Formats: sequence, structure tokens, C-alpha cells
Amino acid sequence: MPLTLDQLNAASPAGFVALLDGTYEHSPWIAERAAARRPFATLAQLKRVLVEVVREAGRDEQLQLIRAHPELAGRAMVARTLTAESTNEQGQAGLTQCTPEEFETLQRLNAQYNAKFGFPFILAVRGPRGTGLGKAEIIATFARRLDNPPDVEFAEALRNIHRIAEIRLNDKFGVEPTLGHLVWDWAERLAEHSEPGYAERGELTVTYLTDAHRACAQRISHWMKADCGFDEVEIDAVGNVVARYHPAPGASTKYLLTGSHYDTVRNGGKYDGRLGIFVPMACVRELSRQGRRLPYGLEVVAFSEEEGQRYKAVFLGSGALVGQFDMRWLDQADAQGITMREAMKHAGLCIDDIPKLRRDPQRYLGFVEVHIEQGPVLNELDLPLGVVTSINGGVRYVGEILGTASHAGTTPMGLRRDAATAVAELALFLEKRASAVPDLVGTMGLLEVPNGSINVVPGRCRFSLDIRATTDPVRDACAAEVLAELERICQRRGLRYRIEETLRAAAAPSDPAWQQRWEHAVQALGLPVHRMPSGAGHDAMKLHEILPQAMLFLRGQNAGISHNPLESITSDDADLCVRAFSHLLDQLCAELS
Ligand SMILES: [Zn+2]
Repeated sequence: MPLTLDQLNAASPAGFVALLDGTYEHSPWIAERAAARRPFATLAQLKRVLVEVVREAGRDEQLQLIRAHPELAGRAMVARTLTAESTNEQGQAGLTQCTPEEFETLQRLNAQYNAKFGFPFILAVRGPRGTGLGKAEIIATFARRLDNPPDVEFAEALRNIHRIAEIRLNDKFGVEPTLGHLVWDWAERLAEHSEPGYAERGELTVTYLTDAHRACAQRISHWMKADCGFDEVEIDAVGNVVARYHPAPGASTKYLLTGSHYDTVRNGGKYDGRLGIFVPMACVRELSRQGRRLPYGLEVVAFSEEEGQRYKAVFLGSGALVGQFDMRWLDQADAQGITMREAMKHAGLCIDDIPKLRRDPQRYLGFVEVHIEQGPVLNELDLPLGVVTSINGGVRYVGEILGTASHAGTTPMGLRRDAATAVAELALFLEKRASAVPDLVGTMGLLEVPNGSINVVPGRCRFSLDIRATTDPVRDACAAEVLAELERICQRRGLRYRIEETLRAAAAPSDPAWQQRWEHAVQALGLPVHRMPSGAGHDAMKLHEILPQAMLFLRGQNAGISHNPLESITSDDADLCVRAFSHLLDQLCAELS
């Protein structure tokens, strides 16, 4: 019989600990401390409380917890002295059937790892979908994590322990995150389409209107029609896949607009953008299976282009919905000399219809977008979901400081006109200035001495500035001070400079009512609400210009890495995301009825 929350909530403290036995390896203290925090309304809440108990424990107890785990394919496995849970997991990953070479590699990695960190390597070998990682993947992860700094790896070990506990709890409760699996499996299948040159290496690259890109549009529209039960599905004049789920007869004729992009950067991840398409698709699939209609319609758009990889036209898909498709883009050529106009004609898109894509805000309730965080914050906090308060506004500059190139040996320190040290000073000023204000970030991503030489004092130094903040005034105040500092540094050092603003994007604060709906949805899952800015730009930034909008972030694994093949999510997290979205839809039903 699967365990239930009612049983757990009603049990004596000792009974509670016994019911959770085996969740955390040889560490009953975690359940002991969690017992006092009952009752638990949801499984997600129980998982979170267990995580909190470990987070609140000191480093000594955390280290004990890590050390309570067996080595992967280690002595305990060979001697068959593992716990039942570990035997099951290591066996499922095929570790009990290693070839002699694999076994030797694992022993070598175990020895190196132990020597570096002083605790055993811990990996949730059942993986992000719970079905098990392959041996090759396990060995690659092992080798990669060996390079982590000790504090980073310590935290990663704890995160893997929580993931192991999560899967063990799912087993105990007889729970499968089926809606999360659905999302996870769609992402996996869509990632089968990648461009030549990348596909062979197992890399994911899908840029605007390539064969792989058009195949993705077909796949998505097929799933929307055949699997999800949308009433209308079409590919529009810029390649967006647009699906509508009609409102209940006689109800409001307004639609909630949602979606994200299906194009990727080169060698990108499987979830960036796509998650925000699949999550509402999963919700509509549930609605249509239940034969349920809402008192409003739902319009899900898979945006064709957001990343600006093939052509210099970012947010092309969502931009078209707000009437910002720039007709001059059509004459741009890609690296092979194919113009956007030719690519669009080849794809059978009707260029003349582009102006008609502009949406009338009167017909919509608002815009919401789900997106993978693409940063380390939620992962660090061990929180699956975060509510976005604002998409950061940004400003970018490229500049150059000009001094005098002179002999590194003969020019005394006091007589130099060194352009690079001046830029270095500016970089440090930017770092200090941005660090002093919450939710403000400043980056000097380019710093280059053209034709520099080891024995020449740099006469020129090129640099860039990228400054982002949740509000435009915070961003602008930082930019103004950095530019003033540039002036001061150059005056003091007797240098000249030029600087040019290359981009300015306004911040897109979340609409308070829509942000609150996401917050309620997260609370309803039994999770704490974490509010955070979005450091990256998203399609919601474009829709912000015509509709109230708010975003929900999902935690990324591997320290939240994105625009990288290591980008990853678990199906448990995806499941929570679908539930949060469904809850938001239900709230809206209640408000409109
Ligand atoms: Zn994205």
C-alpha cells in the first residue's frame, strides 16, 4: 500500500520517522526534525521541509549525511552491503554489471574524488526523469564534477541527495509525475531535430526557418492538434505555431495568451523556450481529456524566433504580435547568403500577412510565460519555482580608450599612457558599483588590446559595458556613474576615449495582479514564494508593450546552466510547473465567474 500524507500527518513522531525510513540514507535525524513541522498539505511541501531541515543543519551534520552514502560502484556494492534503496538504484543504473574497464574507471574516479573532497561521490543515478542514467553519462558527470571547487561540489552532493530522496518518496507514495514526464518527453522528442553539423555531434541547434526549425513547427502543431485537443492550430506568417482552445459557449470571448520560443542558440539546451510551450500544452491536454471548457479562451503560441542566431532580428516571433516586425529584416542575408525573404518564401510563409499578426489587446486578458530560469538562483535555494517581478532593463555600450603604445622596458611607470590598466580600473569600478545595489548587474564582457604585444604598453583597449536592472532609473543611474568614472579615469591618466551606446531595452515589470496569480499558484503547491528578477530577456518583454504580463521560472539543474547542452530540468519540477499553470487557470475561472 502506498504511503499517504494523512498517515504521515497522523503518525506519532516515532511512527513518522519509521514511515520515512530509508528516504535519507542512514540519517533519521532529518525526519525527526521534520516531524514537528506537520501537517503537510502536499508532497511537494514535505519534500521542501526535508530540504529545509538539511539546509538549517550545520556543515558537520551535512557532511555526516553525505558520508552516510556509499561510493558509487564502490566496495559496499561489490560486498553487497548497500541499503535496499541503494542496491535498487545502483543496479538500475547498470553499475552492478560494469565491464572491468568501466569498473576500473569508476574506482579511479572514486579515489581521486575522495582525495580531493573527503567524501564519496553522490549522484542521483535515476536521473532527471527517474528512469535511470546510462553508465557513460554517469562516468562523464563524475569526471566533470571532479573539477568543481570544493564548496560548489559540497552543495552539489547535497542537491543530489535531495533528488535521491525525492525519487524515493515518489516510490513510497506511489506517485509518478506523469504531467512532468509528458513535458520532459516532448522536450526530448523535439530535440531530435537539429541542424546538420550539430546533429551528428548530438548537439541541439535550431535557428530560424532551417529544415530542423520547420520540422519542429510541424511536430509541435501535430502534438497540439492530435495529442492536446486544441480547437485551432496554424502556422502563421512568421512561422509561429498558434493554437487556440476555445472558451465555453456563451462565456467571455477573451483569451489568455501564453507561450515561448522553439528556436535555440547554437549547441543550446532542450528547455530554453520550449518549456513555456509544453507546460500550457499539458494543461490544455488535461482540460480537453476532461471535456472541460474555461470561461475564457487559451491561446498558446510557439514563437518561431527569439534568439537572433541566423539573422540579426531578436524577438522576431513575439515582436510580430505587437506590430514590431521590421520589414528591412527581409533583406538581411544569413552566413550562406540566403535572405530572410528567400527563407520565408521557401518555408511557404505569406510575407504580406505579417502586419495582420498584430494582436488587439482588447481581445486578451493578459500574457503569461513559463521559462527555465537560465541562472543559478533557484538551484542554489533548492526551490523548484520562482515568480518573476520584472524583466531587467538593459543598456549596452562599446568603447575604446586611447593612450600611447610604448616600450615596456624603457617607459618608466610614471610616464605611461596605458589604455588597458585604465579599462581595468573601469571594470573594477563597474563591479563595485553594481554589487552595491540589489538586482543590478554590470558586466564588461569584452576587454581587448588590439594587436597587443607582451613587451608593449597597451596604446589602445576596447571594452564593452552591459548594465541591467529591474527598473530603468536604477540601470540609468549606474550607467551615468560608470560613464562619469570613465571620464575621470581618462583625465587623471591623460587618455582619450570614445564610447557608443549600442542597445537600450526598457525594463518590463510584472503586472501586479498577474504576478500575484503566480504567487498563489506556487503557494497552493505548498511551496514558499520566491520573487526574483529576470536577468535575461524573454518574449514576455515584447508582449509587455501591449498586455499585462508576468512570468514563472523553473529551476535548472547543473547550477542552472543554460545556452549549453548541460541545461536540464527534472520531470518532478516540470510537473509542479504544469500544476502551477493549471492553478493559475483555475484562479482566473473563479475571478471571471
Ligand atoms: Zn529563452
